[in-house]
Amino acid sequence: MDHLPIFLHLRAVPVVVVGGGRVAQRKVELLLRVGARVTVVAVQLNEVLTQRASAGEITHRHAQFEPAHLEGAQLVIAATNLKALNTAVCAAARARVVPVNVVDDPELSTFYFPAIVDRSPVTVAVGSDGQAPVLARWVREQIEALLPDTLGALARFMGERRKAVHKALAPAVRRGFWERIVHGSAGSSVLAGDTALAERAYERELCTAQLTASSATGARSLGEVYLIGAGPGDADLLTLRALQLLQRADVVLYDRLVPAAVLERARRDAERVFVGKGPAGAAHTAQEDIHALMLRYAHQGLRVARLKGGDPFVFGRGGEEAEYLARHGIPYVVVPGITAALGAAAATGIPLTHRQMAQSVTLVTGHPLEDGTLDWAALARPRQTVVFYMGVAHLQRICARLRQAGASESLPAALIERATLPGQRLVRGTLGNIAALARRAALAPPALLVVGEVAALAQLPGEGEIPAEPARQRVGAVRAEHVHEY
Ligand code: SAH
Repeated sequence: MDHLPIFLHLRAVPVVVVGGGRVAQRKVELLLRVGARVTVVAVQLNEVLTQRASAGEITHRHAQFEPAHLEGAQLVIAATNLKALNTAVCAAARARVVPVNVVDDPELSTFYFPAIVDRSPVTVAVGSDGQAPVLARWVREQIEALLPDTLGALARFMGERRKAVHKALAPAVRRGFWERIVHGSAGSSVLAGDTALAERAYERELCTAQLTASSATGARSLGEVYLIGAGPGDADLLTLRALQLLQRADVVLYDRLVPAAVLERARRDAERVFVGKGPAGAAHTAQEDIHALMLRYAHQGLRVARLKGGDPFVFGRGGEEAEYLARHGIPYVVVPGITAALGAAAATGIPLTHRQMAQSVTLVTGHPLEDGTLDWAALARPRQTVVFYMGVAHLQRICARLRQAGASESLPAALIERATLPGQRLVRGTLGNIAALARRAALAPPALLVVGEVAALAQLPGEGEIPAEPARQRVGAVRAEHVHEY
């Protein structure tokens, strides 16, 4: 290492910034965030700095720089666009043995500013010793995406309780206790913004730790379950929270619609358990088995990620699972996912609502068991979009029902198979012919049926260009095939 990364305490510490332009302003703002007492030496200040000076947030020395301006300064920043001036500031600071940063000049500087991820009081600083600032910023972006926004809240939560824990627990058990707070239900509740739940989990952990402090085995924390929506398929469509909790989980229970690329985002050493349901019949028993499995793992003190395709609360039986967990006193959080309809719409350019064509959108199950409970007359009305889930095997029936209820035979319809996944396909047609077209294209689940005027706008990326090569290569990364007819 060429530089030692350290964190400086600058509250009320005098710092001098030479220069009054945009670059200086950015440094001043950073310094004000940590409470430094900032003096700006410049013959001219930009608008923002002028305002800050008149508000008394900074002191302005309206003068050409002289070494005497550094009197008392404990840190110096040269942020002018004049090389000679920057060099003079640098020399003056070095003569006084005060650390100096010359913006964008690693050779003159004795320290430099890292790229920062701010989850105060947790901060991550990334540097590249001035060799590749763009790379350092990229690393920062990666970390930025990984760390929950509420990480700072968790650090404060722990900080506020440090003294109490110190008093209550012997040193030997403290570390294990804090680990259970970070990785357990208290931690995830703070991260999810539920402080009341976090407080209860914390109290419970503290009690358990006190009770078991004398035993050699130590405390075992209560497990928890994350009901996570995995999105429509493309792993990049996972939410940040889904990713964060996936990385925490000890066990991942996943079903048929969760692709391998998403599973790969779980911790390497996490146990992966397939709990997909068979095509028919036994579904109910399987759901009970899933409940029992979640309960068993949670009782072992494990963190269980229950990964479901799309969103857990959209045709995902997430409601039943949540209810079951609540009934058994297992803490759980629900993480929304992008439901298939939204994924498919974005991937094929179908605006689900549209000022001229559709004022509402309805998500419906196409499963025949629910047939009798649907209001077909309402679904057949114009100026709306209706998206059928689980309907591919029953297209003929769905289209017939809509037409009996008054929908026009020429109403546009689109089928999207494997939306957002490699090999995604699109079939476009009308209520009158979509079932036949689907049969001809041998369309298979998972697929969605979109009915309504907006369905006519469906197209795959690359479609509409003059096909110079076969579709597969033409659309590049998306690698989509398409079948379309009217
Ligand atoms: N909870 C899921 C839906 C589960 S029901 C969600 O919110 O998306 C299963 C149905 O979802 C499938 O029969 C299919 O109609 C639809 N589906 C799920 N993933 C899909 C995909 N990638 N492309 C098209 N349809 C999909």
